[in-house]
Amino acid sequence: MNHDFLNSALWSGFAYASGWRQTKAGTIQVIDPSNGADIASVGFGGPEDIARAAKEAKAAQKSWAATVPAERAKILNRAADLLEEHGAELADWIVRESGSIHPKAMIEIEHGALFIRHAATLATASSGTFLPGMDERTNYARRVPHGVVGVISPFNFPLVLSVRSIAPALALGNTVVHKPDPRTPISGGIIIARIFEEAGLPQGVLHVIPGGADAGEALCTDPHVAMISFTGSSRGGSKVGELCGKHLKKVQLELGGKNALILLDDVDIDIAASNAAWGAFMHQGQICMATGLILAQSGIADALADRLATRASHLPVGDPSSNQVALGPIISDAQVVSIQAIVDDALEKGAKLLAGGTHDGRFYKATVLAGVKPGMRAFEEEIFGPVACIATFDTDEEAVELANHSDYGLAAGVITNNMGRAMKIGDQLNVGQLHINDQTVNGGPYAPFGGRGKSGNGSRMGGPADIEEFTQWQWVSVKQAATPYPF
Ligand code: NAD
Repeated sequence: MNHDFLNSALWSGFAYASGWRQTKAGTIQVIDPSNGADIASVGFGGPEDIARAAKEAKAAQKSWAATVPAERAKILNRAADLLEEHGAELADWIVRESGSIHPKAMIEIEHGALFIRHAATLATASSGTFLPGMDERTNYARRVPHGVVGVISPFNFPLVLSVRSIAPALALGNTVVHKPDPRTPISGGIIIARIFEEAGLPQGVLHVIPGGADAGEALCTDPHVAMISFTGSSRGGSKVGELCGKHLKKVQLELGGKNALILLDDVDIDIAASNAAWGAFMHQGQICMATGLILAQSGIADALADRLATRASHLPVGDPSSNQVALGPIISDAQVVSIQAIVDDALEKGAKLLAGGTHDGRFYKATVLAGVKPGMRAFEEEIFGPVACIATFDTDEEAVELANHSDYGLAAGVITNNMGRAMKIGDQLNVGQLHINDQTVNGGPYAPFGGRGKSGNGSRMGGPADIEEFTQWQWVSVKQAATPYPF
């Protein structure tokens, strides 16, 4: 296996827009968040580059939609093969660029390929229905692509969170202009452009333009773009939703979360602590579905806090390229400052620090806070850092009330040996994903994923939702011949 699939000589300084091309807005350096080293340079897109890409994507869309579905599926499956074949090489880029530990980078490769393969099946799925007649006409409704889909993705699971929109959009006959986060343009963009380029996707069908918020906003206002698929913060999503409303575009918003894990008093404490640690600390807590609030019933709360603190203090933090750590760096210095401010606020308001609470540069230690209560920022806000926040409850009703306190509504978990209690609690939780006897970080290509409230606008990604999201109905009525009207 050669390790040259992502040879930077091909793409250094370029974006992918009808081939590898320089952008008007210049280039950006890609930084390894572990040590600040420059690892690459890519083309950086501004509004002008987005406008050009959107125009070219629009021009390419009709012939792509007319490509027979089996051919579209073949190209997608080939792209998935390439992702898997070159997985080891590509995962190294994800580790260095996004601060992922290697197993998490491999999850991105495996899930990325699964998302693409699932999308390939959509290309050949039947896509219409005959309608009851009202007169002599034959009526049917079919699903048709929107046209050009703009995709905007975040830094944390850059590969998966980009392909989960790009692949179904392409499979269903749309063309795509994709804007990955400028901090992770390789994992969230260049890798995807390369696999589709090698898989034989016609030029102009997929454009990958790394850029900032101004490029994202240009995508939302561009007249050639029919739909925006956005994954990111609730603040960014709100702006994107506003622009799409103004410009009458369909918009899919997959946003932040403050996800509760409810632990009832009959749980095995070690298993509960292990679930809480995985949910709160995986990828340094920089996951929308991260366990943001651990609600422990009073009878087990102290023992749970103890075991969780022990686990946290044994998790090594450092450069993930060493393959010796469980937690890598936080994505930026600003994000470290934000995490510390939330931890300090909790401590000032009476929470107890059981582990961590400090950092060495961007390496934030796995942290456990007990006695977290409403009114503390750690209870109210998405932290996006490795901070386990434990709050206690006495009754099941109280657990539901605390879990639903947040304006977010992404994911929740309930762990207990009493399935009846779990289901009753689960039925009352205001979330898009409910996991019984599991923590909150779960995802995959076959389930419709999304959130309520501040976590999204009711859109879903994956599984049966993809056809709904990336196509729209068209009613077709057919008369054997035109007939006259009264005037
Ligand atoms: P962010 O909103 O700052 O950035 C995400 C993307 O949006 C980036 O590409 C960014 O350049 C772009 N962007 C930012 N402002 C924009 C604007 N005004 N117009 C257009 N594009 C804009 O998010 P972040 O802080 O970098 O990412 C983490 C957030 O994403 C967290 O809140 C996390 O919960 C959320 N997230 C949600 C999901 C989900 O599926 N629900 C998945 C992963 C991350």
